[in-house]
Amino acid sequence: MSVFAQKEYDTVICGAGPAGLLAAYTLGRLTGSARRVLLLDKKEPWKEPIFCAEAVSTDRLASLWPIDPDFVRSRLSGIYFTSPSKHRAEFYSKNCGLILNRTKFHRAISDGAEAAGVECHYDTLIHKLEKTEQGWDIFVSRGGEEGKVSARTVIDATGPGCRLTRDIPCLEGIESGDTDLESALFAVAEGIKHSPEHIELFFGSEFRDGYGWIFPRDGKEVNIGFVLGKNVKTGESLRKKLLDFIAKNYPEANVKAVYGGVIACGQSVKPLAKEGLFKAGDAASCVNPISRSGIVESMLSGKIAAESVFQWLNASAENRKSIEEKTLDSWMKALGNKHLQVARAKVGFNSITDEQFDKAAKRLSKLPRERQTLFRIFFNVLWSCPSLIWKMRSFLR
Ligand SMILES: Cc1cc2nc3c(=O)[nH]c(=O)nc-3n(C[C@H](O)[C@H](O)[C@H](O)COP(=O)(O)OP(=O)(O)OC[C@H]3O[C@@H](n4cnc5c(N)ncnc54)[C@H](O)[C@@H]3O)c2cc1C
Repeated sequence: MSVFAQKEYDTVICGAGPAGLLAAYTLGRLTGSARRVLLLDKKEPWKEPIFCAEAVSTDRLASLWPIDPDFVRSRLSGIYFTSPSKHRAEFYSKNCGLILNRTKFHRAISDGAEAAGVECHYDTLIHKLEKTEQGWDIFVSRGGEEGKVSARTVIDATGPGCRLTRDIPCLEGIESGDTDLESALFAVAEGIKHSPEHIELFFGSEFRDGYGWIFPRDGKEVNIGFVLGKNVKTGESLRKKLLDFIAKNYPEANVKAVYGGVIACGQSVKPLAKEGLFKAGDAASCVNPISRSGIVESMLSGKIAAESVFQWLNASAENRKSIEEKTLDSWMKALGNKHLQVARAKVGFNSITDEQFDKAAKRLSKLPRERQTLFRIFFNVLWSCPSLIWKMRSFLR
């Protein structure tokens, strides 16, 4: 395929979501503009819709990418935790989070990657990967034309449940990006009165093993949706469930569009790299198992994958296997171990009853806002259901 600058690259990065974009930028910087890194996606990273509620922690994002007001929809200073009977606890902390405009955010990182010497093509569907003696062949189609590029290493950042690397025999045992796949659905709606600086989370049996949310967008629209546990059967379509929830609680709402997706939110300890192929982001199941946040997590995982690839490219053949093995260690040290603990605590968290949520939220709502710290909110919930203390002991340690 003549559109690519080379036939062979050091690294082809598959997928230009937060993981692939940051991996590309990091590798471009590390390799010093050598134009040996290719980033591919089937669609432009700034093409709407992006299936996401777009909330991130300000500090955690700032540690990975400079915050530019251009890609910030709104700044958050708090979270309402709402119980089934609509008692509300409020955690307040000035500028604790951001609602991103992910299309603009992706463009900023993509520009950074291109400036760092990465070759980017955003209209290229990757069909298949094939292991060769030298590395990998990547089979693509672009504008109706079929083609192939080769690479010594590949980063798979194609998102949750990625099929691309699933049935490749030499990758057996590697993380498959489908650990605890959960369904999530949201609507963009107008006419729902909501504080522009708070996100609101709804807990209880209505959102079994997950939670509902309202996230502000631009002062006029909100993102309203839910995620449910992987084994939950609703007996109705998720779309109907969402629209019924909106109609019941916000009859004045005008739903403009409904979108759905899946979230890979379980932490495994399967290898993240093998045979020169590295996994990053949702393709590596790196989402926080309880909060289900995955944007910053994917970026961090993409950065770790890129750093490992850089070491791999510069290592002798006999040292490469150990670099691949250490990719999981680096992730576990950075966030994975915390996610494992969170995943264990999730079982206890999911067993909290509606009455227990109500009791805790009612008690908290009577406290002045400045006394509703995250620590106090957490312990009030535990206090309302003492059996949880045993179930969550590994988390509390
Ligand atoms: C409804 C919903 C709400 C969410 N809300 C939040 C939130 O508020 N905050 C938060 O932190 N996280 C949220 N998440 C999670 C977050 O969106 C993901 O964790 C994050 O996008 C993962 O980034 P990624 O780069 O790993 O994958 P993705 O963002 O999924 O990117 C993968 C890319 O790979 C491309 N691709 C896939 N297959 C191919 C192929 N064969 N060929 C070429 N390209 C391909 C896709 O086009 C895509 O651009 C939400 C998720 C959902 C579903």
